[in-house]
Amino acid sequence: MKTNLLLIAVLFCSFTVFAQKEPEKMTPGMTEIWDPEVKVIQPGENIGDAPSDAIVLFDGTNIDNEWTNSEGGKPGWIVADGCVTVVKGTGVIKTKRAFENFQLHIEWRTPSEVVGKSQGRGNSGVFLQEIYEVQVLDNYNNRTYRNGQAGSIYKQYAPLVNACKKPGEWQSYDIIYTAPVFANDGTYAYPPRVTVLHNGVLVQNNVSLRGPTEYIGIPEYSVKPHGAGSIVLQDHGNPVSYKNIWVREL
Ligand code: MG
Repeated sequence: MKTNLLLIAVLFCSFTVFAQKEPEKMTPGMTEIWDPEVKVIQPGENIGDAPSDAIVLFDGTNIDNEWTNSEGGKPGWIVADGCVTVVKGTGVIKTKRAFENFQLHIEWRTPSEVVGKSQGRGNSGVFLQEIYEVQVLDNYNNRTYRNGQAGSIYKQYAPLVNACKKPGEWQSYDIIYTAPVFANDGTYAYPPRVTVLHNGVLVQNNVSLRGPTEYIGIPEYSVKPHGAGSIVLQDHGNPVSYKNIWVREL
């Protein structure tokens, strides 16, 4: 009986050894993915130019095509010399289109004549989905609270560095935005995330927002479910100008 069991065990082991398949030898081609081919687009001729798949939101001419005031009427800001400038007291301008995930390019200029200090100097802002502000401010030799200066996610994240140019010079933001996903209870399942390059310099590295960017209050307290939203530019009473605005939906 013992001999029989031993024989069976030996036969089983031999069978297992022979049954084991030699792993297939990997070749370079096994990890190459060819299809579908990556979509071909035409990049802009110069850095900052809109690529072929971008939606041009403002090319320096007609602001009425893509923008309204807060009530859906004609924007109150002035278009001249290829840019659009805040007119104090006319309120925000906002895109007619609503967006979720996107890459945004926008150029801005604070007044060359320096007036005011801290938050009162060249203040405006780019609001993502209408409620999350990337601060626009003249912080060239102008101290303010660090989480409220140019390139900050207002009162949530200070910029990694101060990359401001002088007042009167054109500056750029390249913003990559991932919209939030909401849980059934109205909180964030996945919070909004933002990356910002200021004049080509990384100042926000995929930060997770805590909630809307509030002037007064705790962001977490004002989280409410929302869908796609406009890009909104702020009238903070200072004549800040914008040009070359384009967006790529992601
Ligand atoms: Mg602002």
